[in-house]
Amino acid sequence: MNLQESIRRIIKEETEMLFFIFNPKTNKVIGFNLTYNSEEFNNIRYDENGRSRDYGFGPQKDDFGDTIKFDSLEDVQKWYSDKTEKHLQKQTQNQKYPDLSYIANSIRKIDGLDYQVINRGSCFKFAKEISKLGYNKFTFIFSEEEQEVIHVYVKLTNNLYFDANGFHTKKEIKNEYYVGEDTEMYESSIDELDNFSDLNTYECLTTIPISNDVWKKVIQIIKQSRMNLQENIRRIIKEETEGIDTFLDEISNKYDLSDELKTFIKEFIQDSNCKRINFSNFKIGALGMALESGVLINSKVLERPLPFMLFVILHEVAHQYQFKKYGVDVMYNCYLGDVSVKEAAEFMKTTEEVADEFASRKIRQLQKKGLIGSFTSPQVYKNMPLQNIIMMINNFKNDMKGQNIDSPKKVSEYFYNMVKSEL
Ligand SMILES: [Zn+2]
Repeated sequence: MNLQESIRRIIKEETEMLFFIFNPKTNKVIGFNLTYNSEEFNNIRYDENGRSRDYGFGPQKDDFGDTIKFDSLEDVQKWYSDKTEKHLQKQTQNQKYPDLSYIANSIRKIDGLDYQVINRGSCFKFAKEISKLGYNKFTFIFSEEEQEVIHVYVKLTNNLYFDANGFHTKKEIKNEYYVGEDTEMYESSIDELDNFSDLNTYECLTTIPISNDVWKKVIQIIKQSRMNLQENIRRIIKEETEGIDTFLDEISNKYDLSDELKTFIKEFIQDSNCKRINFSNFKIGALGMALESGVLINSKVLERPLPFMLFVILHEVAHQYQFKKYGVDVMYNCYLGDVSVKEAAEFMKTTEEVADEFASRKIRQLQKKGLIGSFTSPQVYKNMPLQNIIMMINNFKNDMKGQNIDSPKKVSEYFYNMVKSEL
């Protein structure tokens, strides 16, 4: 039985979920597993041909450390390409080097240039252009087998290097080139680079030359990187909220959203610095949950009228603005800090009331613009007795103590596990 057949069989029978197994080195799918139980999972792994394999590769985990399940090969392929794209995109960004971030990001968009080609022969020419921005340390990769230099990085710090793909740590480079086994890494100054980047050497080193027209565009981008630096910082460094597009698609599938409303929701979420957002099946009655690691909205909310659903999102995202404003230590102080339960409850009541007010103000704005219909925002926390919140916090604190929860990350995970249903 091969992989395709198995997948077809399982999907048809709908008896099991599929886990796909990845080679951590290449990140490609190399196998699958039919079982849900994690102990069995460790024992049974199959490759594409249905042969059992039992060595060092494993399933992929999400940000919360849970094993990722896929229903079909298409799902896994989409997930894989999103992840790769995200990773490649991330490689181009470093807040400390907005000029280089701009360059790495922009050369990927040059028509007619496979930017990775720059690394295969034109890396010397590229490094030479980068040196004109004032970067003057370089690191060469010398191949023992070929007895010649095969790549050059611009050296930024002892652990950060730059080439046409973007930024790399020393560890990444060592892994990529098997430094110490097949290659050596050594530092050099501009003089040695000049030898390699001079025209004759370039032509004999390059197996895939880049046309003059395309190269002009590369140089143009390098020059532009010195201008509009602030604009570049703003545009490139801003990180996307993970899952936001899927989240918006799920909303669009349920409601008739105008483009204006869709843009509003997207920007509102992005600007809160929310790391991740998604709909999820909850095992408790809550409508939503805002954590340091992102926002979860109960999928059930999608069955309610549009303004109500928006109110829930706005309320939870309001908490993300609070995380942005106060920082995680202040926000989780009620569980981790040295404050009385009463103080903690008062703080929580305030943040909840503020989130409610914030959300209802936004709802009114949207109504004024005619983007949503009539709706009166609930004021859930205003009328909630402090005593209830005190009890709730006490319960959480005791429970957390028993589980050795002593860091913001663990608090976040604790609540995540509390709401998220297994299926
Ligand atoms: Zn809240």
